[in-house]
Amino acid sequence: MGVKNDLIYIEGMTKTYGVSGSHNIVALNNISFSLSRGANSILGPNGAGKSTLIKVLLGYIKADSGEAQVLGYDIKSEGRKIKEFIGYMPEHYTIIPGVNAVKQVSLLGKIAGLPAAEAMQRAHETLQYVGLDEARYRKVNEFSTGMLQRLKLAQALVNDPELLILDEPTNGLDPRGRIDMIDLIREISQDHSINLLISSHLLPDIEATCEFATILDRGHFVTQGRIDDLTGQEAGSAENRMMNIQIKGSLNDFLGGLRKQGLTFEVIDKVIQVPYSGESPAQSIIQIAYDTNTQIRSMTPRKAILEDVFIHQIEGAENKQAIGGKN
Ligand code: ADP
Ligand code: MG
Repeated sequence: MGVKNDLIYIEGMTKTYGVSGSHNIVALNNISFSLSRGANSILGPNGAGKSTLIKVLLGYIKADSGEAQVLGYDIKSEGRKIKEFIGYMPEHYTIIPGVNAVKQVSLLGKIAGLPAAEAMQRAHETLQYVGLDEARYRKVNEFSTGMLQRLKLAQALVNDPELLILDEPTNGLDPRGRIDMIDLIREISQDHSINLLISSHLLPDIEATCEFATILDRGHFVTQGRIDDLTGQEAGSAENRMMNIQIKGSLNDFLGGLRKQGLTFEVIDKVIQVPYSGESPAQSIIQIAYDTNTQIRSMTPRKAILEDVFIHQIEGAENKQAIGGKN
């Protein structure tokens, strides 16, 4: 089995969903990998198996076969221990109508094993931490998506976890909310030295928050490593590169500027991707931002190869090519 020091250790994990009247879906296909302590991510397009993997690790669903340890605890026999040391922000979320934020978070604290008084105190602390102190006594069913994501995060932090697992934390957020959430996650991982496991289909969000990525694709393990190495920002030739840009301001104006300069682009979840070979388009892009009165929030060159997995699958193209997907 795994090394005691591993954050997570997974060996031969397979999970199949039976679908009536149809063939089975292999959500996890003989997955094996381990993660060290630090800021980790599971990256992959929708349907890759990210949420399934997280739920298996937390004991919410059972795998067909395979072994795993989380923080050195076995997922089959020590699930209770795992839940004690983990904070989990689920992808989908059921709120309790009519209940206020403090109540909701403290309730989850109690479920996580905290005594009532401590759960209440932690609820106040974590709600303040995620910027919901003003909304503490408001009913959660009146919360906006952005507030709900924060509430979920507060809940995940309530038991002061050793490992924080966030399943698509930026889903459904507008650009402003997304930036705030990313900043918050960075702050948590840096200030509190909590280990992270973030799942996302958005490479830029993972780059902003994590050091390591494990890439899944249609239930298969694809590759794993430091994100810098995977995206090849530093090294490599200038062939088949991609400039990923995030802006503040009018997207339409900025895209119009790109068009005028003869640059092609795709916009995936608010990230503008400009493919290029040879000379970097950075200077032109800065000029376009200036001319269109928009602000560049980030601009990152990378190898196009990693993007391929995401772009083609997010768009749901049938003919997409998995990179190294043979495992
Ligand atoms: P991701 O989180 O990466 O988007 P999921 O783990 O949610 O991926 O899903 C992996 C695959 O399993 C997808 O094909 C999805 O449709 C399927 N799946 C997930 N949950 C269920 C379920 N409860 N019943 C049947 N199929 C499911
Ligand atoms: Mg998911």
